Amino acid sequence: MCATKTVDVEATAAQVNHLSAAGAAVVRIAVDSPREAKSLPAIRERTRANLSVDLQENYRLAAEIAPWVDKIRYNPGHLYHHEPNKAWQDKVRLLVEVAVRHDIALRVGVNCGSVDPAAREKFAADDSIGPMLASALEHCELLDRLGFTRYCVSLKDSDPMRVIVVNQRFAAARPDVPLHLGVTEAGMPPAGIVKSRVALGELLRQGIGDTLRISLTVPNARKVEEVEAGRQLVDDVASGRFRGDAEVNLPRLNIVSCPSCSRVENEAFVDLAEQVHRMTRPWADYPITIAVMGCRVNGPGETDDADLGLWCGPNFVNLKRGDKTLGAFRYTEILARLQEELEALIRQRGLTPPQ
Ligand code: SF4
Repeated sequence: MCATKTVDVEATAAQVNHLSAAGAAVVRIAVDSPREAKSLPAIRERTRANLSVDLQENYRLAAEIAPWVDKIRYNPGHLYHHEPNKAWQDKVRLLVEVAVRHDIALRVGVNCGSVDPAAREKFAADDSIGPMLASALEHCELLDRLGFTRYCVSLKDSDPMRVIVVNQRFAAARPDVPLHLGVTEAGMPPAGIVKSRVALGELLRQGIGDTLRISLTVPNARKVEEVEAGRQLVDDVASGRFRGDAEVNLPRLNIVSCPSCSRVENEAFVDLAEQVHRMTRPWADYPITIAVMGCRVNGPGETDDADLGLWCGPNFVNLKRGDKTLGAFRYTEILARLQEELEALIRQRGLTPPQ
């Protein structure tokens, strides 16, 4: 996926071509605004790659986007943001009409951090898999009823074990529907690659999955590492070199960080994620999860499962502990503040701080 600003046509087209030349069969771009949608004809002119667009909340942009791309990914959990009184079924109907008119594919992209609240309400609060699965299945049923066949599904979570289970259950229920696999917010290499290999390698070994993405928090110039890691995994599974559980050697302190995309408002985000990694090395053996997210759109929701969560705005980084928001801090202040919270959390849990 591109992490350039979509309105920066030259940079985005260059990154699309760079990823495509490295072996990416589909390259995704985020489009949230009419201004970004208007960049697509010029990007299309500059590349022959298979282009997919990530629609976040603004499903009505689909008609403007579709003539220039090969696929649109929509997130069922974001459909209710615009026109909340309109049924999600009518919104999907519009997406299908647009897709049929322009002969493009759709991806139903379900994500653990932004599950449709209506699906979530039907399950216990500690059941994260049930709502994701239910949401994906109800969208498949509707697409089937509408006679639309050019679609695939993805069910992404930041926990590799949950990715395995939710995809196994979906594949058992709908073996006919192509699955795109991914561990969302896997983080920085090498941990991000290990988490993705554990989940996606196991699924591929079981014959589950048709396309995949390895999401890594890396600077733009290193984005091809996602493609290289994905190709390597596919080769390893195909040739029997994939070692499954034997590959797991992760620190207990889990850093979840997003791979960045055009929504990042301050490029210091990737540096910040690296600094959090360095700063927390002495705490590597503590069972704590820290989430570092690149934007204010998905940051609040996608830090919900973490003990400590950070999400980045243009000038400030927001910090929360559990579900309590602690405030917004300057980029120069946030690490010290995070360290204070980490130490307080360790004391609260009765653990001995590192010497
Ligand atoms: S959290 Fe925001 S910046 Fe990061 S990948 Fe998701 S949408 Fe993009």
